[in-house]
Amino acid sequence: MRRMELKVGDSFKCPKGHEATIVWIHKDEKVVAVRCPQKHLGKVRKVADHTKPTLRYRHQPRTEEQTYLKNLVFLIEI
Ligand SMILES: [Zn+2]
Repeated sequence: MRRMELKVGDSFKCPKGHEATIVWIHKDEKVVAVRCPQKHLGKVRKVADHTKPTLRYRHQPRTEEQTYLKNLVFLIEI
C-alpha cells in the first residue's frame, strides 16, 4: 500500500471495505484504529454463509449469524 499521511478524522477502509473514520493513530503510524458505522457480523467466521445452500438452515444457530454490531472499532496495521 502506498504510504499516506494519515490523521484522526480521515476516512479509511475498514477490514470489510466500508468507509470508516480514523479515531486513533499509533505514534509510529504503524497501527490505526478506525470506527466503522456499518453493520458487522459479531461472528466473523459466519460471513460466508450466503454461499452455502440453505438445506440445513434449521440446524444453524441463527442467533449467532444475526449478531450484528455497529460502530465497531478495528485496529489495522498499515
Ligand atoms: Zn465496516
